Amino acid sequence: MKGQEVDLIIHNAQIHTLDLNNSIHDAIAIRNGKIVEVGPERQILNKYRSDETIDAQGKEMYPGFTDAHGHMLMYAKQLLGVDLRGVRSEQELVHRCEQYKAQHPNLKCLVGQGWDQTLWAGQQMPTNKELNRLFPNIPVCLYRVDGHAALVNDFLLKKSRALDQIKYLKGGEILFLNDADDDKGSSSAIFNLPRNSNSGQYGTKTIFLNTIPTGVLIDNAMNLVQPFIPDFSKADYLKALLQVQDELLQYGITGVHEAGIDFEHIAWFKELIDRKKLKINLYAMLMDTPQNRAFVQKNGRYRFHNLSIRSFKCFADGALGSRGALLKAPYHDHPESHGLLLTDVERMRNLAQFCLKHGYQMNTHSIGDSANALVLSVYAQIYRRKPDHRFRIEHAQVLDPKDFQKFANFAVFPSVQPTHAVSDADWAEQRLGKARMKGAYAYKTLLGQFGMLALGTDFPVEQINPFATISAALNRSAKEALSMEEILRGMTIYAAFAAFQEKHTGTLEKGKDANLAIFEYPVNGVQGQVQNYAWRTYIKGKCVFKLDAL
Ligand SMILES: [Zn+2]
Repeated sequence: MKGQEVDLIIHNAQIHTLDLNNSIHDAIAIRNGKIVEVGPERQILNKYRSDETIDAQGKEMYPGFTDAHGHMLMYAKQLLGVDLRGVRSEQELVHRCEQYKAQHPNLKCLVGQGWDQTLWAGQQMPTNKELNRLFPNIPVCLYRVDGHAALVNDFLLKKSRALDQIKYLKGGEILFLNDADDDKGSSSAIFNLPRNSNSGQYGTKTIFLNTIPTGVLIDNAMNLVQPFIPDFSKADYLKALLQVQDELLQYGITGVHEAGIDFEHIAWFKELIDRKKLKINLYAMLMDTPQNRAFVQKNGRYRFHNLSIRSFKCFADGALGSRGALLKAPYHDHPESHGLLLTDVERMRNLAQFCLKHGYQMNTHSIGDSANALVLSVYAQIYRRKPDHRFRIEHAQVLDPKDFQKFANFAVFPSVQPTHAVSDADWAEQRLGKARMKGAYAYKTLLGQFGMLALGTDFPVEQINPFATISAALNRSAKEALSMEEILRGMTIYAAFAAFQEKHTGTLEKGKDANLAIFEYPVNGVQGQVQNYAWRTYIKGKCVFKLDAL
């Protein structure tokens, strides 16, 4: 018999290798999970033989996509609790909670996720008045779509004594009703002001007494109630995580950069890998906790099969939708507020040094122009010691135009989520005013500075669908839109670079892991750019998703 034996041949495909020359071939040979050769149909079929040969029917193949910023755990939690995505009013939010209660008669706690007041008429933050009536005896915590705010009931506020602790609160807000609007129950105001937004220090706070909380907690204020909310069981989470994985695989996603996990979750993911259930390549960022730091001191860079840990996640500020993003000048639609600094600069510096010492990467959530400037200054110090640090800024959403060049000067890796530009389009300018929009969602400019741009979705804040990312990035403003090639690289090889994995994955080249996706429709076609999904997905040469098996 002719030819070298391999495990798998896929032919009659349009293989977009995304190598340096952007070569396109017809066939690929795979052995032991690695790519042996990619080449013309005849060449591969003559040179190799395999028990498994797949005719791809002329469909397009790409390196498996990576979501460079997602939250599998948060999405799992969303699947377990009440789903508040897309609610169009406060009444509908309450109604969904009532429905959930009816379906779960023995409810001991109500947790939900996904509301977004910018979708409502008037765009007012909600209040907990109805929730207090419906749920007088159990804790209720409903997270905003971005996870940077929560609506909680009075039961939980009382139980946690959150109001007693607010004078010690750093980097968070509790919203109160304006006394005058008390009976209307619709207006809220932020009282914990002012903050010094450009020095990287927390500002001083003014606490107004005799005000009624609305139940809305922003950023670090949520930490006050967290310990008093019973969580779902580990078994529930593991089951939900696999549901999330199924959704990822059906879009041809073979890798996720999980943006922030606690120490206990390391064991959860390991358990799923031991049970051969977790197939996706997981690049997990650690939250900066004492336990996680101890883990790093003990283990250094950590790898357990498809789980890789060598980075920390840090939060510089909050989010724009809940006015927690830290801005150099006040909010256009809230002139008393600059937003919130969630981690002071001293602490960020300390973490950066810790990362440098242990060969870890630091990935900092940074949305407002002031937060971005502060983080860039922290990273500048690291650049002097280690130019190829690949420290990332997650989101990099609003930049003072004069700060863009620092991405180039200090080799800071930008990681962005183009669907945010679409979701925020209706209100971003209200928050920022016209002038600051020039430096917002500036994907092309960021790419031009660093030379690479990692793309993600921030799911479940946005949908997992990578084709929504493609369409958002292609249709961004004339100046800031990305080309199809730039987008595809952003979801493959640039994402691999952003995780120090470019030698193993991210392109379809000899010697790399056979992580690949064959799509149902051409990615560059009209249909393919919007509603597309995988026909087959492979991780290390193993088929992990088959459309016709659904
Ligand atoms: Zn995120």
